[in-house]
Amino acid sequence: MNANPLIQKIDKKILEVKRQLLAMEPFHPGSLSNQRQVCGKPGCKCHDPEHPDPHGPYCKMTYVYHGKHTCRFVRADCVEEVGALVGNYKTFRDLTDQWVALSIERAKLGPLERKATKPKPKPANSIKKMKRQM
Ligand SMILES: [Zn+2]
Repeated sequence: MNANPLIQKIDKKILEVKRQLLAMEPFHPGSLSNQRQVCGKPGCKCHDPEHPDPHGPYCKMTYVYHGKHTCRFVRADCVEEVGALVGNYKTFRDLTDQWVALSIERAKLGPLERKATKPKPKPANSIKKMKRQM
């Protein structure tokens, strides 16, 4: 363990973040939204030129993973469960963000800010003594 009490305090906080990450429930990136759709059936109410009435609303989950945008419809009876997955993902991101912030603080107290060890300057009176001796 590091002897610096500030680093020890940060390490304690990082350990707590790790504990919370271990206790994480399943998650999924993304956000949910409702969307109304227009179908392809000719003469359907959704195409009405005066009062179009699109189908839905349907729940849609969108997310980006490794730069790939994905959109999926979520069945009405699964919206609550998928909502929990998305909420858990936000918690996961918050925890990893805390870990990164704590790691940056820790590095500032350690290798990023460590001063080079210089020999201590001689006290001013020792210079006077040297002059007297001359
Ligand atoms: Zn339609």
